[in-house]
Amino acid sequence: MKLLIVEDEKALSRSIGEYLKMEGHICEFAQNYHEAFIKTADNTYNCIILDIGLPDGNGLDIIRELKKSKSNDRILILSAKTSLEDKLTGLKIGADDYLTKPFHMSELSARVNSICRRDNFVGFNEVTFNEIMVRTDEHQAFANDQLLNLTRKEYDLLLFFMANRDRIVTKESIVEHLWGDNVILTDSFDFVYTHVKNLRKKLLANNCGNYIKVIYGFGYKFCES
Ligand code: CA
Repeated sequence: MKLLIVEDEKALSRSIGEYLKMEGHICEFAQNYHEAFIKTADNTYNCIILDIGLPDGNGLDIIRELKKSKSNDRILILSAKTSLEDKLTGLKIGADDYLTKPFHMSELSARVNSICRRDNFVGFNEVTFNEIMVRTDEHQAFANDQLLNLTRKEYDLLLFFMANRDRIVTKESIVEHLWGDNVILTDSFDFVYTHVKNLRKKLLANNCGNYIKVIYGFGYKFCES
């Protein structure tokens, strides 16, 4: 599972990451409110492990932002023993569970797994192309059964390509799909180029075929070689 660890205590953050990576999870980190805000806006996670007391803000506001953007990311709150009220507020505004510090790593891992398991009981839609599989309900993409660590834009791009397989998609249509139609196109072409390049790199690194073809002067085509 792909996890985000939001925790400003460096040693704690590191041990959580080491433990959960050992258990096979992909871990990303944010050390303050600002970093967490940016990460959660650009990515989706199976579970966000969220410390409430951050140096530059309250973790509860991250939950509020996530719920506002209709994110499906699951949230496990970490809180100090004294802040019962924070825990209750957190659960009320949409966190899935909480854990009081200090805790054992095995307990944390059990909670994370239990939260993530809940999603497996929700029906999901799959879109597949050879060794690539996208679960649209969970906003996750897999290659050869391995979870791909994609940014939200890369995920959207992959799904757009798969929905338009064997067809030429113009750079303009990609810009519209990724940013809506009220952006200045010329400024966005460089971003399209970068996102396509990064997506291709990640697919190749996960032993996928080279499906994204450049059609010079037009855009791209997602197809078998
Ligand atoms: Ca803290």
